[in-house]
Amino acid sequence: MEFNKITRGANRAIEHEATVFEILDAGFMCHLSFIFNNTPQIVATAYGRDGHILYLHGSAKNWHLNEIIKQDEICISVTYLDGIVLARSLFDTGVNYRSVVLHGKAVLVTEEAERLHALEVFTNQVMPGRWQEVPVGNAQQLKGTMVVKFEIEKASCKLRNEGPKGDEHLTNIVWSGHIPLQQITLTPIADSKFETQPLSESVKNYIKKHSSLEK
Ligand SMILES: Cc1cc2nc3c(=O)[nH]c(=O)nc-3n(C[C@H](O)[C@H](O)[C@H](O)COP(=O)(O)OP(=O)(O)OC[C@H]3O[C@@H](n4cnc5c(N)ncnc54)[C@H](O)[C@@H]3O)c2cc1C
Repeated sequence: MEFNKITRGANRAIEHEATVFEILDAGFMCHLSFIFNNTPQIVATAYGRDGHILYLHGSAKNWHLNEIIKQDEICISVTYLDGIVLARSLFDTGVNYRSVVLHGKAVLVTEEAERLHALEVFTNQVMPGRWQEVPVGNAQQLKGTMVVKFEIEKASCKLRNEGPKGDEHLTNIVWSGHIPLQQITLTPIADSKFETQPLSESVKNYIKKHSSLEK
């Protein structure tokens, strides 16, 4: 993996592939951007990572997926807001975050075995183990689904994970510090269309992993 040079705040730059992967594996939502008719476009979508590849999927008529496969290069970003940093001055106030920006080419996946592999990777990134619990869908749904693979060619990565900095010399008296932020699960709500079933393993595991604060 090649790394893009970070200019501003370069002290927060991490040129470490494992850290990029760790951030990508912390969730499944990205923003992908590309140029269409000289106009910048950006859209939120989900992904599943397999090595240096991010798999994307959508309807075969999906506009952005059909556009990105025509482009030489697209850009994908993933960001987590981890906290609000409140210093003794507003100038030194900021946020804790993990952020990755990726560049590469998006290619249509046509081979059926890889399409299924991609959907498995994608599903298990969203909810590990769910692929084993429910069927994919019928042949028509599969036919109407487009799978795209994005190979990471260049990456950049920035992290901040600490309290206020730069205000050490200030003498004003006020609370300062940082407020960690975390996304957690609340009580799951069973589908009212069906008789309620016990939580499946994937759901139980997900809740266990994401329900409590400060792991
Ligand atoms: C967390 C998250 C995960 C998602 N995961 C997937 C996924 O895995 N696969 C998938 O196909 N779709 C996903 N979506 C929906 C996705 O954002 C698009 O809305 C959808 O893919 C349709 O894309 P399109 O290019 O065909 O839309 P079009 O309707 O053709 O797009 C035309 C224009 O509509 C606007 N637009 C489109 N989508 C959005 C949006 N989400 N918010 C605001 N404006 C929008 C933009 O201006 C865009 O240029 C996800 C959305 C979110 C928020």
